[in-house]
Order: sequence, then C-alpha cells, then structure tokens
Amino acid sequence: MRWFWWTLFTLCGVCGVAHADPPSRVHRGRNVVVARPSASVGWPNHGSLDNARHLDASGTVRILPGRVLQWGTDELVGLLERTAIRMKRPAQQPLTVGDLSARAGGVISRHRSHQSGRDADIAFFARTENSRGDSRPAPPTDYVVFDRAGRSLDGTLHFDTARNWALVQTLLTDPRVRVERLFVSTTLRALLLQHARATHSSSRLVTLAANTLVQPARVSPHDNHFHLRIACPSGDRQCHTGVWLPPPPPRRRRVSPSRTHVRPATTHGYAPSRPATDR
Ligand SMILES: [Zn+2]
Repeated sequence: MRWFWWTLFTLCGVCGVAHADPPSRVHRGRNVVVARPSASVGWPNHGSLDNARHLDASGTVRILPGRVLQWGTDELVGLLERTAIRMKRPAQQPLTVGDLSARAGGVISRHRSHQSGRDADIAFFARTENSRGDSRPAPPTDYVVFDRAGRSLDGTLHFDTARNWALVQTLLTDPRVRVERLFVSTTLRALLLQHARATHSSSRLVTLAANTLVQPARVSPHDNHFHLRIACPSGDRQCHTGVWLPPPPPRRRRVSPSRTHVRPATTHGYAPSRPATDR
C-alpha cells in the first residue's frame, strides 16, 4: 500500500482524500495535506525512521512521565491508538506507553533497539488488592517489576493477568498490523498463557501468543513492561526483519612466533565486542 499513498501524495499534492488509517493528515486552513508515508529503514537495532508519526497523549493513551520519544511508523502509532481505544472498556484506564523512537530514528539512550520506528514500550496493567480481596486497577506511574507470582517487589501491586492478556489479545488480533514480537519475562509469559488456556481462548490465539511472547536474551528480562515490535510494513522495502549483526572481523593470519616482533598488534578499528543483537 505504500506506493499507493506515495502516488496519492505526489499526484494530489494538497487534497482532501479521506483514508482509513495512516499516513497522518495536517490541516492547513481549509486544505488537508496528506503527510508523506513513514518508512522504517534498516533494522530495529541499526536503522532510522523517515516521516515519523507522533503518538499523542489522549483520553485513551497516557505517556509515562518524562518520556519524550513517541515517534514511530504510521503502522505502529495506528496500532497503539486502535489498541488503546479497544482496551478502554476492559482496562478501565488508558494504555500507558513509554518510549517509541526519536523523530528521525537512530540510537537513543536506555535502548539497544527502538531505532527504526517499529518498537514501543508499554507498561503492564496492575491492580491493588485489599485484605478482603477487593481488586482495583492501579494506573502505573512508572514501570513496575513483577516476580514469578505476579507481585510487585514491595508487595503493593499485582500483575493484572486478565487485563494484560486482553492487551496481548488485542495487539495480536489487530486487523492491519502484524506483531513480530512481544518481549516479556518467561515467568509473566507463563501467567499470561495459563490464563489464556483457563479462560478458553482459542487454541490458534494461544499458539500465536506462545510464539510471539518471548523473553529476550542477553538484555533485561522485561519483567516490568512489554516491548512491542511490529513486523515490517508491507511495501517498506528498506525495512529489514530480524536484527542487525555486524560483519565479523577478518580472520587474523597466524604468524609464526619468530616474526611476531615485526608486526605490531592492531585492532584495525574493529570493536572489541559485538553490539546488541536483541531488543
Ligand atoms: Zn523497549
């Protein structure tokens, strides 16, 4: 579909054609300018973002305090907006979102990925519970770590398995965007899948969730938030699936001990360790 939007933009320049989803529209006076479609370039851990769309706070979307990186592809922002609307009733609170990407993508602090507009962090739904067992949704003010039993470390909050499963279900059944990964810790993943089976979710959905919910390797286990990564938008030819791996350094020729003194060691500029391969 990307070619369609691009052609539409190129041919019309300024027009008022209605559309069902992105790209976004900018109102200038009586005209509606169709913004150029976004493009995810490269990999999540080695990429950039063109014509980014901003995720705005609203009645259904809440941005975590202090987070200012809410730029993503049209598809990612559209998915988050639709999900937040669909979750409003079951969650009884807005969808709380942390970082997406910088406006032009690229490296940002605290993240190894989030570079190409396809990643977003989402706070878990949590609830409080009093001694009588009454439960209430607890809007998060920051990411909260939950242990294998679904309790916060200070014991005041519970991982709201039902609402978090509803969120997973909503993301995975979106009609327009395919979720590539939902990073979450192995223990919380187990709670979610256990709940899904206990509540008789379809076996197809449970299988899809089991394949999508993953604890990433060699980074934070994601026991305090979901990390959402969407698949490359169809037609986004510069978007690459998977993660970028740097080319291995060339093999050093074995030098006989008698000659080592004439060839000083050098790294030739190669990094001593491999960069991130996940998240
Ligand atoms: Zn993340």
